[in-house]
Amino acid sequence: MESAVLGIDLGTTNCVAAVSVNEKTILLTDKQGQELFPSTVTLGENDTVWTGREAVALGAAVPGKTAYAVKRLIGRNYGDPVVQKARSMYPYEIIQGEKSDGVRIKLGSQSFAPEEISAMLLRDIKKMAVEQLGFTPTDAVVTVPAYFNHSQREATLQAAKLADFNVLRLLNEPTAAALRLDSVGEERVVAVYDFGGGTFDISLIRIQGTVYEVLATDGDTFLGGDDIDGLICDELSRIFEQDTGIKLRNFPLSWHRLRDVAEKTKMELSHADQCAVFLPRLVGDESLATDFSLARLEEITRPLIERSVRICGRALEEAGLHTTELDQVVLVGGQSRMPLLRQLVEEFFGMAAATEVNPDTVVAEGAAREGAMLRGGGGALLLDVTPITLGINIAGNRLYPLIPRNTKIPVRREHVFTTQRDGQTQARMTVLQGDHPQASENIRLGEIVLGNLRGDERFQSKIQVAFEIDASGMLHVKAMDEDSGEEKEIVIRNSFDSDQDIQDGVLEEQASLEPVEGAANPAISGPFRETELVDVLCFLHANRKSGRIMVHTSDQNGSLVMADGEITHAECADSSGTDAVQELLRLNQGHFAFHEGFSTSDPAEIKLAFNSLIGAP
Ligand code: AMP
Repeated sequence: MESAVLGIDLGTTNCVAAVSVNEKTILLTDKQGQELFPSTVTLGENDTVWTGREAVALGAAVPGKTAYAVKRLIGRNYGDPVVQKARSMYPYEIIQGEKSDGVRIKLGSQSFAPEEISAMLLRDIKKMAVEQLGFTPTDAVVTVPAYFNHSQREATLQAAKLADFNVLRLLNEPTAAALRLDSVGEERVVAVYDFGGGTFDISLIRIQGTVYEVLATDGDTFLGGDDIDGLICDELSRIFEQDTGIKLRNFPLSWHRLRDVAEKTKMELSHADQCAVFLPRLVGDESLATDFSLARLEEITRPLIERSVRICGRALEEAGLHTTELDQVVLVGGQSRMPLLRQLVEEFFGMAAATEVNPDTVVAEGAAREGAMLRGGGGALLLDVTPITLGINIAGNRLYPLIPRNTKIPVRREHVFTTQRDGQTQARMTVLQGDHPQASENIRLGEIVLGNLRGDERFQSKIQVAFEIDASGMLHVKAMDEDSGEEKEIVIRNSFDSDQDIQDGVLEEQASLEPVEGAANPAISGPFRETELVDVLCFLHANRKSGRIMVHTSDQNGSLVMADGEITHAECADSSGTDAVQELLRLNQGHFAFHEGFSTSDPAEIKLAFNSLIGAP
């Protein structure tokens, strides 16, 4: 078999890998013939690295040398509340990096960054591929939760790099799942509800032919099956303490056994009403023996599932959709097998969930399909969105958002800023992610300093800041001093040195900027010059049969409606006169020149198509 692109679902609990060859998907299997490969790493004797099922088995004996669920830690700072919560949840020790406030996982006498642990899993997946496919895969499409932020994506890329993978694209998990759905038939809107081991995601995706357009995405990177297991553990340890007076938390080996049995109990209760729990000699001579009912499981876990349903409501609101406008609900992630979860989700969406996909493997299968398409050229067109607002700090500790959440990607946004003090020679811009109006309440991704400003009266210098998000959701930031032409690109850092932070606090306020009013990005307000309009268009799709050209700008979606080959009118969410879609119609004036099925998100092609639309040579 010729070298194919590996689709890898690097899950919190399990990894799945697949390749797509001649429209057929092949799932890799581990030594035990299983498609799900536990995302567990254990250091054995002489610090030999064990992964997958063997690591799980060995981990029972050495819980302090076993790492799992590291996806929850990847790309986070030590001070992150999620990391602090994880410290009390997992038997392995989570420590702060020496020079930065990044996270490290201590296994025996060694410590590893989460991405190093993930790389160990990826290396073994590569080995499986060599054995089963007969070639060494170098290219991969790796999936990440839609809600992963920049640092988490960056760290995932780093893990792949450490394992010598060339990542063609990071693909959002729900989009990957949608890619696996049958793409023939009418336009439809699909909700992909993904409740896995560690994260929860909801994405609303419009599928039209081979165009997959994400309308909104939301989620929680700390909501998953592990939390349900944690609640069962709490309940069982409470029973054990009542009977024996012993706190199981103080016994890591016993806790490991408890966690194992909690997950098995949960799975059994997906098709039974009652489950017997028996752990002989759990601590000393004391055993745990009890019955656990489905009713009790549902009682303690209902709030977690309701939390996920509330997030679905938020995503619908963001997309401006009502549940009645959805055509299909797809459940993804092992935890979605839980009957109460299925029931609450189906009640909320008012329809039965689709049964055509395997919730465990659908994401890897979709990634493999995307890999084959990227390799072969053509195929489906993905229009994803960025899940989190990105911006910079401005004077007064305020956030200036440059790319609001749920903006379609790829996207480029610019804004002009100016100095706020007379004689200001330095501009220090901190790149932030988050929606809090107070800059300091958001996550800091990195910073750019321009140090040679003219230092004249305030409001005179002009600094142009450009944010760009590529198809993998990675952020690139540039700032340019318009006077001197000095330009700097950001180096996104996962974590900040704590001493530097204190200094920054002082420097930042003095060196921060003010946005220039009225210098808004053309994507935000019009009227548009023709060249600006080309810049804001990120996707065109013409379909003569349906009589529509779908037009997407970084803010707006719309359609140009055709009759007898002529464009008659524009339809878009915002019908104000400066709307990009309306403007396109005005400029077009009957020069419609697309052929059926034409679609593109390539800027050069858009330019060509646009020129033909407005009749330019
Ligand atoms: P994933 O991240 O998609 O691999 O999902 C893993 C999560 O699904 C883990 O928390 C598992 O305990 C959970 N899971 C797998 N099978 C079942 C099942 N039959 N019932 C309930 N949860 C399950």
